[in-house]
Amino acid sequence: MNRIALVTVGDELLNGAVVDTSTAWLGDQLALEGYALVISISVQDELPAISDAILAAIARADAVIVTGGLGPTSDDLTRLGVARAARVEVAQRKELVELITARYAARNMQVPSQALVMADLPIGASALINDGGSAPGIFMEIESVPLFALPGVPHEMRGMFIGEVLPELRKRFSGVPRHTFIVRVALLGESAVSESLRDWESNLPPGVSVAYLASLGDVEVKISSESARQAEECATLAADLIGDSVYAIDEARALRSTLASAVLHLMREQGESLATAESLTGGGVAQLLTDISGASDVYLGGAVTYQAGSKHQLADVPEEMMNTRGTVDAQVAKAMARGIRLRLDASWALATTGVAGPGNFEGHPAGTLYVGVSSPAGERAFKVVLSGQMADDRARVRRASAAHALDLLRRSLAGLPMGTKAGVITEE
Ligand code: ATP
Ligand code: MG
Repeated sequence: MNRIALVTVGDELLNGAVVDTSTAWLGDQLALEGYALVISISVQDELPAISDAILAAIARADAVIVTGGLGPTSDDLTRLGVARAARVEVAQRKELVELITARYAARNMQVPSQALVMADLPIGASALINDGGSAPGIFMEIESVPLFALPGVPHEMRGMFIGEVLPELRKRFSGVPRHTFIVRVALLGESAVSESLRDWESNLPPGVSVAYLASLGDVEVKISSESARQAEECATLAADLIGDSVYAIDEARALRSTLASAVLHLMREQGESLATAESLTGGGVAQLLTDISGASDVYLGGAVTYQAGSKHQLADVPEEMMNTRGTVDAQVAKAMARGIRLRLDASWALATTGVAGPGNFEGHPAGTLYVGVSSPAGERAFKVVLSGQMADDRARVRRASAAHALDLLRRSLAGLPMGTKAGVITEE
């Protein structure tokens, strides 16, 4: 497999100001094409650091990508760094002066003289087209190793990688593209997922690889093979073994599914509509739903009913009920869901109430969540007790609660049991 090395340039990547997302994105893209990103070096905006890193990268790889430091300011030193590594000078290129001037002219602007440094290229290099910005990229061979320098701005870097770098890599190296399917699992720990796949993993056909990626409330199992059919078959089998916590199987290049998109998909198939009344999650569920383009044909809307008063005014929760039971309560969750469903004339509704913390509320600890689900068949309520990472702080409790609410709705719609996390979730 061909080896690719990356150098990311910028003080901001090392002093904590900006998280390097380019390494992750490029690593993923290269793997999909059948290449391996074998090393990524981050360096400061400093000439010797840049050229040393380029030489180290060249020594280890079949091709090198450099990102960042191509802009017009005095701290943008990548052009000089590439030249120094190649032991050549830079020279101004007339066609790039014209290109940069034209770009500014198109915006009715004079070219600042400083911007013309972007027309400098190491001697022997060629320019890479940047449709998204004014700094051209650089292509050059150093010690017969092809090197591509791209701007740091993530969307420019991505566009140029796809438009300029990939075609050249494909021409030079016959990477065998790997096909990846991603099994998406909701609210089951990474260890539980890998436990259910342990026997399967130890008997995988040769050439099939498996990787796990966990984030709060979500586990991805990535299954790759040179054969798309084999990857898909393996993913389907893995999903069966994991069980009903799987909410989607995505092809890696396709639009990524989320719990919200899975719920919307189920509702659309069944011709249902949805309303929400949110207390603890404060609109977090609505946000996840409306993140999905086209959600409006299923999701009607909802209310953030944060105080007892608004639970009564907007979702018709009886005041006596809250006076006697409090607001963190299964009956209240059911009443919120029923109230908003009738108000908005939806076929289904989802409600959340609970304690985000820090500290207790109405005698319940932070991480206590009640989810109400209302449908023509009646109301159901579930109590979720968040623990571990999910109960660590207010933001996590709120995010995990929104995920639990959507997953409970997904299970209700699909007629699935809630039983996989016995003890954590109870029906009230
Ligand atoms: P510009 O013409 O904007 O100066 P440039 O090629 O000089 O482009 P940088 O100045 O290094 O690029 O970075 C531009 C922007 O992109 C900055 O906001 C920077 O934080 C961001 N950026 C650069 N590298 C990365 C990276 N590896 N991951 C995420 N963001 C990055
Ligand atoms: Mg810059």
